[in-house]
Amino acid sequence: MAYYHIWTIGCQMNQADSEQLAADLERLGYQPTQEIDNADLIVVNSCMVRQSAENRVLGKLDSLKELKRLSPDTVVALAGCMVDSDTDRLRRRFPHVDLFLKPGQFNELLDLAKTRASEVSNSFALAPLSPTAFVTIIEGCDNFCSYCIVPYRRGREKSRSIGEVRRQVESLTERGVKEITLLGQNVDSYGHDLPNKPGLADLLQELNSVAGLARIRFLTSHPKDMSHKLIQAVASLEKVCEHISLPVQAGDDRILEAMGRGYTVQFYRALVERIRLAIPNVALATDVIVGFPGETQEQFRQTIDLLSDLKFDTVHVAAYSPRPGTTAARRFKDDIPLSEKRRRLQEVEELQGNIASEINALLLGHDVEVLVEGKKKGKWYGRTRTDKLVFFQDNADCLGQLVNIEVKKTSPWALQGSPKRSVSKV
Ligand code: SF4
Repeated sequence: MAYYHIWTIGCQMNQADSEQLAADLERLGYQPTQEIDNADLIVVNSCMVRQSAENRVLGKLDSLKELKRLSPDTVVALAGCMVDSDTDRLRRRFPHVDLFLKPGQFNELLDLAKTRASEVSNSFALAPLSPTAFVTIIEGCDNFCSYCIVPYRRGREKSRSIGEVRRQVESLTERGVKEITLLGQNVDSYGHDLPNKPGLADLLQELNSVAGLARIRFLTSHPKDMSHKLIQAVASLEKVCEHISLPVQAGDDRILEAMGRGYTVQFYRALVERIRLAIPNVALATDVIVGFPGETQEQFRQTIDLLSDLKFDTVHVAAYSPRPGTTAARRFKDDIPLSEKRRRLQEVEELQGNIASEINALLLGHDVEVLVEGKKKGKWYGRTRTDKLVFFQDNADCLGQLVNIEVKKTSPWALQGSPKRSVSKV
């Protein structure tokens, strides 16, 4: 028996890539292991969207030096956004790494795994999957926001055909998946590079008819690409969840322009209004960057005002971190001190904690439908269609079921409740 170990950091695209690689390795007869010392193949799926993520990858790679020295036959691969075209430089920097794989490009590793697969038993059946899975539908990004490394590392946008995505979703549902999240760095520009230019709305329509599938989500939308047709599709297709992730990044027009985001605050506010009119119970998530070069107190205040007014269900906040090679790193001085970035970040988090408390408290005493994803510390957990994390206790095996839960307790981050009745398996 041969084992693989995949260490993943970063966005959902990276997680989806790792899930796909794991499935491919298991098809070749490899098994996962958490014990890295036992692994025959080790993959570090990296991210460098922020300095903190890059530091963690470097720490992980360092920790593998000794393992590789003691066990030279173990294959160590570095994958993901840290891998650029200059593999010679990477080889000099990380001599204990055998393979360097660009984001999502695992063929070299799989070829190597195949050559070793003759020594591997492949007689076991594929294990059932978790009830939720990621499916990448469009790779790369054409936007070149000034702070972002993604277009340089993942390349230009490339959509998969509707037929190919449908086949993957059908095969996932056959292995027990009930909910899929369609992924793209810029998911709502899906299809513009395909013949006849289908849109994300068309793909949602197609997947809505997949038997056995209960829920569909998609991540991450760019405000400038969110069409009326897409909003209508979310409003009308019963399997598509009322949950949209719509990063705003800043609440000030000059900062948005310097970021190269391609919209104004007014445009964004009007879009949120249109979405909420069409989908009244929608949950909205957003991303915010604080401490972008030159961001004044007044400009930061505009972001706080926007978040206070629009009241998102979730806000992911990050402090600006210059990424070598990006336009912002070349053009602008990183002039907001780290202590000030941290202060702004904390202010956003505190504000959002209060807003999320208020929003979640409205659910107290109501029933919510939860797709159960697993068990932690004796409690089942899962998510509502609006992406709220819910915990409850039940002696029955609830994994993969849709369960109605009466909400008994709320916090900014999660809900607690008790089951009303189980809904039959989907
Ligand atoms: S839309 Fe902007 S932030 Fe998002 S991946 Fe593309 S370039 Fe990066």
